[in-house]
Amino acid sequence: MNIFILTSGKYGSRIINHISKMGLASSIIGIYEVPGDLPEFIDDVSRYVPDNLPEADLVLSIGLYGDINMVIPFVACKTGAKSIIVPIHDPKQIPAGLQMEIESEARDARIVFPKPFCSLEPVGDKYIDKFVESFGKPELEIKADDLIRHVEVKRGAPCGSTLFVAEKLKNVPVAEAEFEAGGRYHNYPCLASMDIDPQIGDTLLHVAGYRIKEAVKRELGFAAKSAVVCEEICQGGDNCSHICYEVCPIGDETVKIKENGKVEIDANSCGHCSICVQKCPLEAITIKNNVNLKRSE
Ligand code: SF4
Ligand code: SF4
Repeated sequence: MNIFILTSGKYGSRIINHISKMGLASSIIGIYEVPGDLPEFIDDVSRYVPDNLPEADLVLSIGLYGDINMVIPFVACKTGAKSIIVPIHDPKQIPAGLQMEIESEARDARIVFPKPFCSLEPVGDKYIDKFVESFGKPELEIKADDLIRHVEVKRGAPCGSTLFVAEKLKNVPVAEAEFEAGGRYHNYPCLASMDIDPQIGDTLLHVAGYRIKEAVKRELGFAAKSAVVCEEICQGGDNCSHICYEVCPIGDETVKIKENGKVEIDANSCGHCSICVQKCPLEAITIKNNVNLKRSE
């Protein structure tokens, strides 16, 4: 797989360094550094498109802000790439309208906007999925008795935070591993924004933290904490329009609406942020400790 990278700023450099170190260096056939001081609104982006682009299978565009992102369709067209990944690490980076413009100009390509990058999962596209074999939503393999003995990163955040956390979990008591993972993740200089993303209702930094904790919980089979819905109290959407589902920052993979309209919460991915707890008008949701999980399939 040949990857062409558009990059800008510290965020882009960190991703390039990590994925290169972890085995993708020989797949990167070109890197174009976009200046970071461009105006947010640009009339004609075509003058920023690099000349003599090589053929590529996948375009990765990392850290570009505002209208300059409209170079992506030009670059995809000139490289012949039909697969594009545009991670979003800041709510101000690519507004929804601009995303739609990019999609419409790159109509022949499969394009994804993971928000943040460590939310990326397979999408059924040959080259995006090849990338996701190693980078995206964290997946771990953990060997443990009472203590964590060994942690292997099966899939890691492209910025390197999963590897950083995994290395710190050795000899941590299993009962404390989820919290330790969250704490260690916050020690990593993650560059995801601390601003609330209006579409998600939480910061992208927090969402990235939920992702690494989820990977630990899935492997260990229990959640130290999770939101839990009381089936008797939940009225299944009557008078609440399933507000819990709407406000959950992790999305429909966490709050699931059952056939009878009532909801259940997947403790694997719940980040126990308590947003749904505060919003449920019937107080049907509480945060509970030590919730057993089904093992991931
Ligand atoms: S848990 Fe609360 S907000 Fe969610 S569907 Fe039930 S009643 Fe509505
Ligand atoms: S506490 Fe509620 S809103 Fe927060 S992650 Fe869990 S299910 Fe979603």
